[in-house]
Amino acid sequence: MTNIQIHIPGFPRIGAARELKTALERHWRGELPAAALEQTGRDLRARHWAVQRLAGLDHVTVGDFAWYDHVANHIQLLGCEPARFGFTPGQDALQRYFTMARGDTGHHAHAGCAHGHACQQGAALEMTKWFDTNYHYLVPEFAADTAFSLHAERLLAEVAEAQALGHPVKAVLLGPLTFLWLGKEKGEPGFDRLDLLERLLPVYGALLAQLKRAGAAWVQIDEPILGLDLPAAWRNAFEPAYWQLSQAGAPLLLATYFSPLEENLGLACRLSVAGLHVDGVRAAHELTSVADWLPGHKVLSVGIVDGRNVWRTDLDAALAVLRPLCAKRSGQLWLSTSCSLLHVPYSLQQESALDPEIRSWLAFATEKLDELALLRTALAGADAANAADTAGTADTADIAAPVGTTGTADTADLTAALAAARAAVASRRASPRVHNAAVAARLADLAQGERCADRRASPFPQRQVAQRERLGLPSFPTTTIGSFPQTADIRAARAAHKRGELDAASYERAMLAHIADAVHRQELLGLDVLVHGEAERNDMVEYFGEQLDGFTFTQHGWVQSYGSRCVKPPLIYGDVSRPQPMTVAWTAHAQRLTKRPMKGMLTGPVTILQWSFVRDDQPRATTARQIALAIRDEVADLEQAGIAIIQIDEPALREGLPLRRARWDDYLDWATGAFRLTAAVASDSTQIHTHMCYAEFNDILPQIAAMDADVITIETSRSDMELLAGFGQFRYPNEIGPGVYDIHSPRVPDQEQMVRLLRKASAVIAPDQLWVNPDCGLKTRGWDETEAALRNMVAAARQLREEH
Ligand code: GLN
Ligand code: ZN
Repeated sequence: MTNIQIHIPGFPRIGAARELKTALERHWRGELPAAALEQTGRDLRARHWAVQRLAGLDHVTVGDFAWYDHVANHIQLLGCEPARFGFTPGQDALQRYFTMARGDTGHHAHAGCAHGHACQQGAALEMTKWFDTNYHYLVPEFAADTAFSLHAERLLAEVAEAQALGHPVKAVLLGPLTFLWLGKEKGEPGFDRLDLLERLLPVYGALLAQLKRAGAAWVQIDEPILGLDLPAAWRNAFEPAYWQLSQAGAPLLLATYFSPLEENLGLACRLSVAGLHVDGVRAAHELTSVADWLPGHKVLSVGIVDGRNVWRTDLDAALAVLRPLCAKRSGQLWLSTSCSLLHVPYSLQQESALDPEIRSWLAFATEKLDELALLRTALAGADAANAADTAGTADTADIAAPVGTTGTADTADLTAALAAARAAVASRRASPRVHNAAVAARLADLAQGERCADRRASPFPQRQVAQRERLGLPSFPTTTIGSFPQTADIRAARAAHKRGELDAASYERAMLAHIADAVHRQELLGLDVLVHGEAERNDMVEYFGEQLDGFTFTQHGWVQSYGSRCVKPPLIYGDVSRPQPMTVAWTAHAQRLTKRPMKGMLTGPVTILQWSFVRDDQPRATTARQIALAIRDEVADLEQAGIAIIQIDEPALREGLPLRRARWDDYLDWATGAFRLTAAVASDSTQIHTHMCYAEFNDILPQIAAMDADVITIETSRSDMELLAGFGQFRYPNEIGPGVYDIHSPRVPDQEQMVRLLRKASAVIAPDQLWVNPDCGLKTRGWDETEAALRNMVAAARQLREEH
């Protein structure tokens, strides 16, 4: 007998039409009262639960909804809002929540803030990436005196909502260890946030008891940190903690995702919980061990459908994995997506413009629910058939067992659905749109001449001489990172062009005028190396994706990035190639307007890969190399057009790091190799720049150096140049532009301040290695503040030249 249940770790919360985004932004602008916002939330939850139940899920997931972020929900749920916000007990919870998420904008206006310029009192909680996704969570702040208390009203209300709608409920929580792990220690040094566990567990215990009383059939408790390299103290904390939580009586499904369990596998199987969810995509190779190790009375939930990508599941392959697991577990199995569906778009239903063949290869959140239902039916059917064949002893499941032979009324439907899925997978596998022989041949050729293809002709010191001779730049050369203000004018022109109201020629003329304007302003400012300003670019990845073969775009494929912010990642479905130059005309135009060097501006292969949905039918490394070849062609063409400096941005290089250290080397090897493959076509006298923000890369400096860019610009101003010290200690060999001002704020830095930072930089890096530039691109700024800041920056560089 099989008992197969289906569920999901979480569902997208933003809404099919981004209703949550719209409502939130209206609320923040004061246009939508809290009561109406609450109603939007209720409507969205009701709709999302209905979708889950309609698809046949056994439980709806409750607790995955958040106004801004689910980690922030837990800060309130567990009563640990940082004291620095100065909340008073009577203050409205929703307002407090948004203050933590977005900062107390009114704080400095309060009479009596004597904290001065660096006051952090009302600043929003820090935001950082959720594991290796592009979702950002709000970082909890912990101090030695952090206290916890239970505030479960909201969660319990949501449970009641779901129950009132007639749904069986599985509540979802972040586990106590993951919650602590994700936070940051503030205040007294020497304090370890793990010490708070003892204080936190009773609050969790009370919460679980309340959920049980409220009638939640299951509580999914997420501990994704079990897939990380954990310090021993953290690993050791799991068993006693979960023993204590098990006393509360609610059946717990411990959920792990994003990463294999490895050395934590035995631990995860041993914990006193009623079930374990594992990522059947990223940890596919561990499924058999988990099925063996997990005691028979516990539920095994297999995340067989990919929650991180958009491709239709190969159901035959999935069934081949599931059948033996089902047999091992005596027919008791839960099927699920690998992780929360937060990371994929809502539904394919709205994608009417997508090429029908490519569309048939895809499954977004709602389609993934249907896949789970189909897998269950197929598995139960196969099991029933097997049982009949073997007179009830289905301990050796036949992997090739035909499905759909159960004789039930659904058999025809099931057979048809499986056949359709199979046809889609086969079409994707064989499609000429996916496979491009020329790209494959080019990659194969490279494999033979490997060493040359990703190495510049000469080592850096020689190139430096050639470049200095060609460029004739002063010491402390000034430049910017690429984009200039995307003014309302620019955005309006692009929108009109997209709507078909502005023809291509007029749009192009408008952009050329904006470029000319940016060049003119830079000349007046006296910058040494100019940029064209990226007026024509909507987004640094989409712009290239739109011009490359192998990419496509959805109309509504939004995924939450943070709060109300969503991104619509491009979709890489096939071999990547570049039909024609993408940036040369714009850059060459800009160069004709000035005698100063015009820096060509490209996005690097790793960043394009990282910010897209990628193929799952070949290694990421291969896709990266294909993109690298396409961008390499652009480098060659820019050079051919007389461009002497080319920047290849790789802001996402660090975020691509695998969750486990043991896999870092492999990643860094191919990622930096892809960058070099892009750059190495340039001759010695062409100067290659790269740019990275989020500058915490002290632990990967050798690999950054191995990228061998002639100049790297990085974000450092917010850390007061501290981040540069690592480069100094490491004796970073090439040239560096540490950002001297923060572009995230409209504040205009004064000359003095930037001089101070540059002096600090000169103390750790040889002055003749240094460049002067802002932290990042200026597209979100206005022209007034941009010009004022750059004027001061150029003056600061001049002052440094005099000092040296
Ligand atoms: N060249 C890009 C810009 O200036 C770089 C952006 C980034 O690093 N994220 O906008
Ligand atoms: Zn940047």
